[in-house]
Amino acid sequence: MNTDLLVIGGGIAGITAAVEAAEVGKKVVLVEKEHWLGGRVVQMHKYFPKLCPPMCGLEINFRRIRQNPDVTVLTGASPTKIEGDADAFKATINVEPRYVKGNYSELQECAKECPVEVTDNFNFGMRKVKALRVVNELAYPFGFFVEKEAINDPAMKEFAAKYDCIDLDMKAETVEIDAKAIIWATGWEPYDATKIDNLGYGKLPNVVTNMNMERMASAGGPTKGKIVRPSDSKPITKAAFVQCAGSRDENHLPYCSAICCMASLKQNRYIREQYPDAELHIFFIDARTPGRWEDFLQEVEGDEKTIIHRGKVAKIEEAEDGMVILTAENTLTGMLEHVTVDLAILATGMVPTVDTTLISGIKRTEYGFIENNNGSAIISAGVAAAPKDVATSNEEATGAVIKALQIIGRS
Ligand code: SF4
Repeated sequence: MNTDLLVIGGGIAGITAAVEAAEVGKKVVLVEKEHWLGGRVVQMHKYFPKLCPPMCGLEINFRRIRQNPDVTVLTGASPTKIEGDADAFKATINVEPRYVKGNYSELQECAKECPVEVTDNFNFGMRKVKALRVVNELAYPFGFFVEKEAINDPAMKEFAAKYDCIDLDMKAETVEIDAKAIIWATGWEPYDATKIDNLGYGKLPNVVTNMNMERMASAGGPTKGKIVRPSDSKPITKAAFVQCAGSRDENHLPYCSAICCMASLKQNRYIREQYPDAELHIFFIDARTPGRWEDFLQEVEGDEKTIIHRGKVAKIEEAEDGMVILTAENTLTGMLEHVTVDLAILATGMVPTVDTTLISGIKRTEYGFIENNNGSAIISAGVAAAPKDVATSNEEATGAVIKALQIIGRS
C-alpha cells in the first residue's frame, strides 16, 4: 500500500489525525491493534469536556471515516518493523484475523453455544466473557471476533469443528505500507496498581482503580452501570478517592498524569447521582484542575457530604464486613486520619504504550513519552506525547496533521 500518512493508534488522537488529514485530500492508513477503534475513550462512562458518553464524540468521527475513501482502517493490526525516514517510510504491519465466518445473526446464535470463557480485558478483568464476542455494542468496526487467548483451547477447537461460524486456522496477514509521514498516537495504559503494595489493589476486592470505576458506571460494563461494592454487590454508603495513587512518586510514576484529579471529581458525581446520601471522601496532595475545570472542584467542594482531605493515603487495609480503612497524614493539621469506606477508588496515572524498538531515531522523554523533535517525520499526538485530556489530544492531533502535511508537501 502507498499512502501519504500512516497513523499508528486508533484512539481519539489517531482517529482525529486520520480524518483531518483525509479531509484535506491526503491518503491515510490508520492502524489499530485492537479489533475496534476508540482507544481508552470507549472505555469511559462519560468524558470531558461535555460529560457525555463516548459515542457522542466518536460517532461523528466514525461517520467521517466511513464516508471518506481516503482513509483505510486496519484493525487487529500492529507494526512489526518500520524503516526509512521522511518521505520514504516502509512499515510492516501484522494484521490478525477475527477467526469468524458468516453474518452477524449467524454469529450471534453461534456465540450462545461458545463453551470457552476468557477474562474480559476491555472491562479490566472485572468479569469473564465468551471467547466469541463483540467487545461492546458501540464498537467500530462492529462485529464478532474470537479472543486470541482462546484459539488454542481444546474446547474451542472442538467448538470450531462442530460449528461453521469460526475458523481457528485463519492466519495473520502481513501488509507492507509505504508512507511519507507517520503520526504516532499509541496512547496509554493505566499504571499497574498491583505494584502499589500499600494500597491493597488486587488483594482487597473493594479497592478499585479509576478505570474500573468508569466500567462499573457504564451501562455496558460488568455491573450494567450500577456502582456497587465488588465483593458482594452491596450499595455504597461511603467511598473514598485516593489521588496520586502511584503518581508523583519516585517509586512508581514520578510525574503527574494531569487528568486524574478531574477524573475523580467526575466520578464523585457518578456516585452522587446514584447515592444522594453517600459519604464521599477525596484525599488530595493538591487538586490539579486547571482552567474551567476549577468549576468542577468548586461543585464538589460545595457538596456537604463530600469531605476533602489534604494528604496522601499511606495505606489501605481490610476492615470488618468487607469495608476498607484508609490511613493518611493530613498535611494541614499534621494529624493521622483513618477513614473506613465500602469502596476506595485509586486515581492511577497514565503510562505511555510506545514501542520505540520498532524504529530508531524516536526520542523519548525521561518518562517514556515521545518527544516531538523539529524536522522529524515521526510526529507524536495524544498521550503518546504526554498525559492529557481528550480535548487537548484532539487539538494536538490536528497540530500533528499540520506538521505531517508540511513533510508530505515537501516530497
Ligand atoms: Fe495526582 Fe491529580 Fe496529578 Fe493525577 S492529576 S497525578 S491525581 S495531582
